[in-house]
Amino acid sequence: MPDSGIMLELCDSLKINVNELLSGERIMAEIYDKRAEENLLAMKRELEEKNRQMLQTEYLVTVPAVLAGLVLVFVASFVTMPMWLRIVLLAFALMMIFIVAFIAVGIEQKVGYYECQSCGHRYVPTYWQTNLAPHTGRTRYMKCPECGKRSWQRKVLTKED
Ligand SMILES: [Zn+2]
Repeated sequence: MPDSGIMLELCDSLKINVNELLSGERIMAEIYDKRAEENLLAMKRELEEKNRQMLQTEYLVTVPAVLAGLVLVFVASFVTMPMWLRIVLLAFALMMIFIVAFIAVGIEQKVGYYECQSCGHRYVPTYWQTNLAPHTGRTRYMKCPECGKRSWQRKVLTKED
């Protein structure tokens, strides 16, 4: 699969259209529409799958890192050691938790969409809107840019069902 940025250029050079490029053969006009539809569907499914994997990665990275951070905080708080080591360990653990949380929110914000409870509008919020919003899991309390109402908005993988 060529990078989408060079697809049009590539098609232009080869004197074919995007669907021919994607399906790997010359297409007659009558079956063109069907192919176009299939290719679009396949691309949509691929994107959905990629998004699902990204969200899985988010958990796989975040959960162990935060657990490790909490263990470090516990050790630094209760195990006998010099004060400077306590401070270094605590600072390191907190920094790690913060950095991982920022990265995790970044992944979550970019992958898929959030769906407004009131009007059903699906959109991508800004990083800070996402990061500062109260949340349980991936459902975040945010203001919808379409209807302006605040609601608990769940993460969805596609723009439409
Ligand atoms: Zn709305």
